[in-house]
Amino acid sequence: MEKINEKSSYCLNCKAKPCSTKGCPLGNQIPQFIEQIKQGDYVEAYKILSETTVLQGVCGRICPHQKQCQGSCVRGIKGEPVSIGDLEALCFDAMVEEEDSLLKCYAEEMKLNKTNKKVAIIGGGPAGLTASAFLAKRGIEVTIYEKYDYLGGLLVHGIPEFRLPKEIVQRTIDKILRLGIKVNYHQQLGKNLFLKDLEEQYDAIFLSIGANQSSKMGVEGEELLGVFGGNELLEYKLHPDYKGKTVAVIGGGNVAMDCARTIKRLGAKEVMVIYRRAREQMPAEDKEVEEAMQEGIRFLFQNNIVKIIGKNQVEKVELIKTKLVQKEDDNRLVPINIEGSNYEIEIDNIIMALGSRVEPYVRELGLETNKWGNIEINEKYQTSDPKIYAGGDLAGVKSTVAWAAHSGREAAKSIIENI
Ligand code: SF4
Repeated sequence: MEKINEKSSYCLNCKAKPCSTKGCPLGNQIPQFIEQIKQGDYVEAYKILSETTVLQGVCGRICPHQKQCQGSCVRGIKGEPVSIGDLEALCFDAMVEEEDSLLKCYAEEMKLNKTNKKVAIIGGGPAGLTASAFLAKRGIEVTIYEKYDYLGGLLVHGIPEFRLPKEIVQRTIDKILRLGIKVNYHQQLGKNLFLKDLEEQYDAIFLSIGANQSSKMGVEGEELLGVFGGNELLEYKLHPDYKGKTVAVIGGGNVAMDCARTIKRLGAKEVMVIYRRAREQMPAEDKEVEEAMQEGIRFLFQNNIVKIIGKNQVEKVELIKTKLVQKEDDNRLVPINIEGSNYEIEIDNIIMALGSRVEPYVRELGLETNKWGNIEINEKYQTSDPKIYAGGDLAGVKSTVAWAAHSGREAAKSIIENI
């Protein structure tokens, strides 16, 4: 408790609150909720957070706080920023007993707002869950159509237990479903679920099916046995036996860190992360990189893959060193291969964790898509069919949970205005 008091008292309650206005994708009222924690009023703190988010327990744990709220905190200019993430998580954790009475308050609010409108949500990940909750609170009848037999999407199958306990995700989902939201499981667009049928039954549809395929590099040997996509490994858990194996994970984001740390836990002899830029350019959160290093993961920075070598199965990988060059028309440092610096290392498995793309069937839905296959949306989150809205990774929204949730909440607001 002393620690919590210390953490909350450290906030300056700034008037400009850049943590909230610049840093937080959801615009959470950060100094206001911290102020309530200072006073010991967790219920009020939780209510303030609930105005902008339903993922307090999740975002408090897995948001890249250093790049978002804490990265904009005034305290961070000269020293350590306020531990905003910890305080948000704590606020959710402290609500176990009070949740019942809070949900009763929301139920009253919903009764007052009751409408005869119906919305279908396709995909129960962070964007879909958030949209569902914000629509339901405004008295709209919401039905989620979900491909799997569980909700949560990448919160369940994309983020390992050591970063986000399943129990926290389940509590979040239970809380959202208690707003009276219906769920139909085992429903997949294009297979047993069709937009034209849904359009007849609902006033609006929100698509939030994510982008679940691992991107490819396009290098020689990528089709060899022993090469896996990071997303698929985390999602389907079809891991090979790593005991005694050397595994390379390609990429520098959080999916790469999650894969490397999971594989190490599954018994690999050596796990290395290969990244073509330097540590400072890694999109993964510092904390994740630090923890991966402490767990014995090796990092080969400024190394690029030339080709993967093997007969049927991966045997080696050829790498080339890179130097970082600032391009005139671009502020970013671009990695350039250093000619003649090629070398080979022996490897048993390679995991491609270079980002995600939407599944090919999305192009067949009859909605406009961009060159990467993402669904095109306007500023109201509306697709080329005005009755259909989209958000999260499917619509190419910045790929963090908080941004996905932001798109769900804002799409819900647009739907409420338009139906
Ligand atoms: Fe508190 Fe930091 Fe936000 Fe200022 S910027 S209100 S110190 S959390």
